[in-house]
Amino acid sequence: MGRGQAKQMDQQVNRPTIYQFKFGECVITNILEGYLHRDDLHPFVATNAVASEIEDLAREYQLPFPALEHNFVATIIQTPEKLIVIDPGFGGAAPAPTTGWFERGLTEAGYVLGDVDVVLISHCHPDHIGNVAQNGKLTFPNAQVVIGRIEFDYWKRGEGVSKMREPTLALFQKVLLPLEDQMRFIEPDDEIVPGLTAVNAYGHSAGHLVFKLSTGDKELILLNDATPHYVASFANPDWHFVMDDDAEMAAISRRRVLEMATIENLPVIGFHIPFPAIGYVERRGGGYEFRPATYQFNLP
Ligand SMILES: [Zn+2]
Repeated sequence: MGRGQAKQMDQQVNRPTIYQFKFGECVITNILEGYLHRDDLHPFVATNAVASEIEDLAREYQLPFPALEHNFVATIIQTPEKLIVIDPGFGGAAPAPTTGWFERGLTEAGYVLGDVDVVLISHCHPDHIGNVAQNGKLTFPNAQVVIGRIEFDYWKRGEGVSKMREPTLALFQKVLLPLEDQMRFIEPDDEIVPGLTAVNAYGHSAGHLVFKLSTGDKELILLNDATPHYVASFANPDWHFVMDDDAEMAAISRRRVLEMATIENLPVIGFHIPFPAIGYVERRGGGYEFRPATYQFNLP
């Protein structure tokens, strides 16, 4: 092997970063905004489990332990009326060069920043709000920012925020608070645009929302951060994710939205599910199992 080849081998290998498909009357694009490698599967995905339980589960699913890859997957929905971006990632708050790739994905998907009509925010953690504005200017110049009223008010009050969340509060104050007058605030069950409805998933953050899309004769659920790990969060929804602000409430919400997807047999997209972050939910034991999609969404 020559020197040039050896150098190339050291560099980041390529991987797919967009997945686009037709769904009802919409075009949906999932964008890999980035990933972080960590070495703490336990306790990261289950602070209230013992390490051996998580290690056994990882082995069962052919996953390493304790290493993991945490994905960040933004979603774009092009409806007949509007172009909606859901949780556009870290942006200027990117913690590593392996994150902050949203705009590259947007371009590859065939859109420009000015095309976006709505930026929909599930909650105010950095990986979801960092890219809404840079230096006081909206990243998406023609977009209206839509966010849950409970979530916005919680961070605006800024009371009872944990030590771990102090940087989150600072980012909220820098990125979102100055935009308050131009935002639209929603409640659970409100319709964001025709066919896209907010669903209460409080707990991961004070006012965390997930979303249900109905288009033509099809429906799906965007789980956002209700399922932070594609094995553990499904296998035992009562396990506490280290990033859950109110872990008990997050577990109740997780069960509720997974039950909703299971009963109606709806496909799900998850912000932290490994790219392309889409699949189905089945009941398994006292919990659930995520079945990654293969070609289902490539067919008409
Ligand atoms: Zn997140």
